[in-house]
Amino acid sequence: MKKGFILLFLLMTVLLALPALAGSPTEFGIPKVGTEINGFVVKDVYNWAEYLTDVVTLEHIKTGSVLLWLANDNIERNYTIAFRTPVYGNTGIAHVFEHATLGGNTKYPGANTFFEMDAKTSNTYLNASTYSDNTRYIMSSTSEDQLIQYIDYYMSGLTEPLAISNPYAMMREAYRYELDSPEDDITLQGVVYSEMLGALTQERMAYYNYLGMMWPGSYVASISGGEPEHIPELTIEQLRAFHEEHYHPSNATMFLSGDLNLPHILDLLNTQFLSQYDRREIAFDDPNYTPVTPGYHETVFPYPAEEGTPTENAAILYYGHPFDASTATYEELATLDYVTSYLNDESSPFMQTMREKLPGASAYATFSCLSGRKTDLLFVANGLNESDKDLFRSICDESLAQVLKDGVNEDVLNAILTSKRFSRLMSLDNSSIYRSLSNDIYSSQQSYNDLYIWKKEAEFNRAL
Ligand SMILES: [Zn+2]
Repeated sequence: MKKGFILLFLLMTVLLALPALAGSPTEFGIPKVGTEINGFVVKDVYNWAEYLTDVVTLEHIKTGSVLLWLANDNIERNYTIAFRTPVYGNTGIAHVFEHATLGGNTKYPGANTFFEMDAKTSNTYLNASTYSDNTRYIMSSTSEDQLIQYIDYYMSGLTEPLAISNPYAMMREAYRYELDSPEDDITLQGVVYSEMLGALTQERMAYYNYLGMMWPGSYVASISGGEPEHIPELTIEQLRAFHEEHYHPSNATMFLSGDLNLPHILDLLNTQFLSQYDRREIAFDDPNYTPVTPGYHETVFPYPAEEGTPTENAAILYYGHPFDASTATYEELATLDYVTSYLNDESSPFMQTMREKLPGASAYATFSCLSGRKTDLLFVANGLNESDKDLFRSICDESLAQVLKDGVNEDVLNAILTSKRFSRLMSLDNSSIYRSLSNDIYSSQQSYNDLYIWKKEAEFNRAL
């Protein structure tokens, strides 16, 4: 009798605990590899303990489109869809198309619907961004119902934007000539045109010039936002062809995050959008790129300045080592990233010599995997003269050689590692963490041309 009572008590305790377990991390639960859900199949499930989330990778069976669900109980729900859009030339075609998708579509023709939706709904983020090799559409809300509305709006814009059928819609977003009265001057207007007039600062142009010199003909060197003098070369036919070539599910990677009814959203994506397409092979290559010949190359690019602007100590120097890292391991490349963090520490030989020999300049080192394993170890200095270039170059070379010879100071390295751990822990307090993490995962996938590179990154960081 007594025994039976204890058993019942224990059983009841377990049953009462079950709903709490099922609700964490998500109501829906984590599906197993191989499970088919509304047109998708689960390819991989990974527990990313440091970020308190599971990552479920799914593939859309008909088109090969990839979707990663960061499954957790976060209050912000996010959907991101990104397309590989490497572009050549500086007409800003990818950027114009990004604006066009949010400027009215067949289902929601109003030109201002996006801005009304942004202002009148309780979204936590609605936006889109263009990079040299991809375009991302990002929407977030604490309400799953609202998120579904945003998905419907964005996906309608991605499939049938007015700008590819209506020349006036394209002219509004890209460029147009305006004349209010015969005695006025004709002016050039356009949302993207105006945006880019203010965007290409001396620092950005210096970087684009550097990229163009180091990666001739490659998309990584294109001014993805568009260069104002080239934006008016864009035609509606080019925009239409760009849409046809890149805006296809086989070329898309999607992200969901938060506590969602996954089957419901997958069903919406599958039935209303993805299933209208057939799978297509889309290459992610760089046909116009010709590598520079090995050795040292040097070029000077002038930048216009207003009359009377002081030009003394106003130069920007870029000293880079671009290389193809196709055969490098993640660990080797991550180590280079740590080397640059070390060089940037105030106590490093690089910073000490800079303070001593070029005291007015500000400098830093950076390592980046630009796209498709095109990689670059770069030193940048601001606030000096062209005549300082040889001295700057020798400081960079000697600092690097010293790190290779003597290694790094352990205390400084520990401080860098602690700071990285601390910033990850702090990010857990931010409700937009999984939107940012989705963004970071996609950036890594593009940089390394590897769908699961973020798992290597997670394991590398865990081992530190
Ligand atoms: Zn823009």
